[in-house]
Amino acid sequence: MSAEGTKRVYFFKPGQADGRTEMKELLGGKGANLAEMSNVGLPVPAGFTLTTQTCADFYTAGRQWPEGLEEEMDANIAMLEETTGRKLGDKDDPLLVSVRSGAAVSMPGMMDTVLNLGMNDESVQGLAAQSGDERFAWDCYRRFILMFGNVAMGVPHRLFDEILTREREKAGVEFDSQLSAEQLKGIVAEYKQIYKDSTGEEFPAEPKAQLRRAIDAVFGSWHNPQAIRYREINEIRGLRGTAVNVQTMVFGNMGHTSFTGVGFTRDPATGENTLYGEYLVNAQGEDVVAGIRTPKNINDMPNEDLADFPGAEISAEEAGELYGRMHAQIIDIKHKLEEHYTDMQDFEFTGQQGTLYMLQTRTGKRTAQAAVAIAVDLKNEDFIDKTTAVMRVDPNQIEQLLHKQFNEDDKARAESEGRLLATGLPASPGAAVGKIALSAADAEAMAAVEAEKSDGIGIILVREETSPEDIGGMDAAVGILTARGGMTSHAAVVARGMGKCCVAGCSAVRPDVKAKKVTIAGQEFAEGDVISLDGSLGQVIAGAIAQEDPEMTGAFGILMEWAEDYRDMGVWANADTPHDAQAALDFGAEGIGLCRTEHMFFEEERIAFVRQMMLTAPDVRRVQRELDAAEFAAGQVAGAERGELQEKVDEISKELATHRTIYDGALDKLLPAQREDFEGIFRVMDGLPVVIRLLDPPLHEFLPHVAEVQARLGEQMGIPAQDVAARVNELRELNPMLGHRGCRLGLIYPDVYAMQVRAIMEAAVNVVKEGVQVHPEIMIPLVATAEELRVTRDSAEKICQDVLSTADVTVDYTIGTMIEIPRAALTADQVAEYADFFSFGTNDLTQMTFGFSRDDVGVFVPEYVEKEILEHDPFQVLDQSGVGQLVRMGVEKGRQTKPGLKIGICGEHGGEPRSVKFCHSVGMNYVSCSPFRVPVARLAAAQAAIEAKA
Ligand code: ADP
Ligand code: MG
Ligand code: MG
Repeated sequence: MSAEGTKRVYFFKPGQADGRTEMKELLGGKGANLAEMSNVGLPVPAGFTLTTQTCADFYTAGRQWPEGLEEEMDANIAMLEETTGRKLGDKDDPLLVSVRSGAAVSMPGMMDTVLNLGMNDESVQGLAAQSGDERFAWDCYRRFILMFGNVAMGVPHRLFDEILTREREKAGVEFDSQLSAEQLKGIVAEYKQIYKDSTGEEFPAEPKAQLRRAIDAVFGSWHNPQAIRYREINEIRGLRGTAVNVQTMVFGNMGHTSFTGVGFTRDPATGENTLYGEYLVNAQGEDVVAGIRTPKNINDMPNEDLADFPGAEISAEEAGELYGRMHAQIIDIKHKLEEHYTDMQDFEFTGQQGTLYMLQTRTGKRTAQAAVAIAVDLKNEDFIDKTTAVMRVDPNQIEQLLHKQFNEDDKARAESEGRLLATGLPASPGAAVGKIALSAADAEAMAAVEAEKSDGIGIILVREETSPEDIGGMDAAVGILTARGGMTSHAAVVARGMGKCCVAGCSAVRPDVKAKKVTIAGQEFAEGDVISLDGSLGQVIAGAIAQEDPEMTGAFGILMEWAEDYRDMGVWANADTPHDAQAALDFGAEGIGLCRTEHMFFEEERIAFVRQMMLTAPDVRRVQRELDAAEFAAGQVAGAERGELQEKVDEISKELATHRTIYDGALDKLLPAQREDFEGIFRVMDGLPVVIRLLDPPLHEFLPHVAEVQARLGEQMGIPAQDVAARVNELRELNPMLGHRGCRLGLIYPDVYAMQVRAIMEAAVNVVKEGVQVHPEIMIPLVATAEELRVTRDSAEKICQDVLSTADVTVDYTIGTMIEIPRAALTADQVAEYADFFSFGTNDLTQMTFGFSRDDVGVFVPEYVEKEILEHDPFQVLDQSGVGQLVRMGVEKGRQTKPGLKIGICGEHGGEPRSVKFCHSVGMNYVSCSPFRVPVARLAAAQAAIEAKA
């Protein structure tokens, strides 16, 4: 321990470790679990872990070792030498170690690792003696110079690879493993020269010096660009740094009785309860992940006959026996890991001449499908209880299950047309259709272009293999296709984490990045050509395949059913059409929390009348006011004077009539259209509440800005095109989002809201007569003061009564408001006087509380998040400490006035799990979100209820 008493180094050896799995924050995930596995008695090579705090202190001190670390390291090295009975740099029996990064949250492949540390001209002799294999010893030395040079000193990999390739050619062999000890010795000499040429110093021979620099490099890798980008994309924040694990080397490359591999205790793609993984004979750790050689299926181990290794030191029969035994041990470890961790694990193992070692375990990343299947299975296998199963699945992740799949018929057709090009590994399930991009940069650029188009499609990133630098492109793509690499290659692991469709190791794919072309099974495609990927089957298909909506069946259905046992808050949906309403119902929505009427205005046949109405509304209002004034003036006088004024009144009346003809003409067209829309939605939502928001956006958003369209509109209205243009201009506002919109429109142009309320009520009456149960909830947007709501509500109420007075049925309706302006939240007690319900419009509320224009935040909010000025984009995750206060206050004040006031949320946040949990905590009755997020919100609401009770 250092002087201040901070323990910086935690030791582990078989059966005994200073750390535990709960210490991930301090020891990193890898270190904590190496300790845990040691404690459980699994065969872990001994070592020690430098804490993440040490990494933080290293940075605080300006990349210097904190005081006391050196002494603590020396003590631990001594302990490790004693435990293993070997010494660093020893010429007879040297201790070699790996130096491995490992943060609290796993970041696969993002940070650096150095293997075989301790190699020098003396220890190479010792390793040769110890292993009885000179060739092997020199190969380790070679690898170490390369990794150390690359990781600690930034010497490009390529420089080393060039030498290796050249020497292989010179020797006339295909594989590195066929190079002789003598040849490797020559390569080591050349590597040292490369190191010297690139760094200007001799290769450091002293193991402790090597160790110190490797540790610095691992600390340094915490801030390398791909690690930073990875944390950004995965919203990993608030970590202290990376831990460093120094661990005794074991060798998977000590001949053909040695191997290395990775495994999952269950299938991470489907969740199936079967050992899953890959191994490589005579290889060292990173060979599997790097996708250099294509690995073999772990379950084929018992059949290993080394047939692909002519001249192997054991017979096919002996190989089968040895690998069969290893396989049985791995199966046994699978059970032990699951029993201990009660969750699916992702582990690394290495066999050294028939002895199996465990090098890592962590909770395995999995697809959404697997996450759900595993949670349900683990409960059914009695590893966990139902509550834990419901808590196990990340609500955000299940959205993947709600995405599209291929239409079977269309796919069958494509196959019969010979469009099935090739089959690779089904690395990450799902269906993707998109344009080919051959580099990560192109993928990002093309995705941005597609996002701007109304009919834009996705991008499929096609690569030889992916590497950490490709992260941005993978994130921008809808699917990933690689030519090389296995189920645990970088592409596969990252794609599964991202929930993206991926086909890996498809050898029929030959990308040519320079020519921006790719040949797939002999057929040539250019960047931008469309292909489809079936990640569940590993198929690559030419052209686009139709996609369709998914269903909630199997384990997913079961989990959602379990969630219902806990959920005590409603989940409604935002839906504007009967189709969306049906989708919402299918996903379990219990009402519509937001039906935006303006979306109905955009339909082809309607928009012209919407525009006609909007362009005449200001005239109607102006002339109506003139008329009122003239009538008033005429009423003040008598006699001849009055006659004159009366003439003026008549004149104005006539002008008003002309405008009204056009205006009412439009409203009369829109009324039946809206009525029909509402009827459709009411029928679908039979028996459930439907909240309909009256017109909200500023008028000019609907207006035509193209001359040609203006001319056509003028024709329809019987006015010249330039008049149309002039009126469009008049309606323009400087700050439309803070301008004439919402209930302000309803108050100034009352006929618009009147028409909408009438349409709602007439629709309700009509469907009640069909035997449908309707509960319309009329919602008035953008209220800032109680008075606005009082007046708007009064007018609406009159229309409702008017419609009902001539209908011989009753309709159970309510009138409420959105709380989306800070002032409304602050005065919610007054507003509640006139509201039957509240619905928090957190999009506008966030915009107005932050003073961030929703439409312009793209310029700075992403960078705010990157720089951690904001923890999240507040338009995605509700800002609980700021906007949340207004929400809480609105709920409390509203219920002071009306204790039973029904309250929900209809902003984007209604489907965001953390925000859903917040809504639960303030006592909302329901959340409302887009149909596809309904299951997400249902699960989040169930978890909120469980957490509230805990
Ligand atoms: P990553 O986080 O990128 O997986 P690791 O620290 O796990 O990095 O190491 C990279 C590879 O090196 C892994 O395959 C691992 O199993 C292997 N490796 C690490 N330490 C040792 C060791 N002591 N002996 C043998 N192989 C090791
Ligand atoms: Mg690893
Ligand atoms: Mg709003």
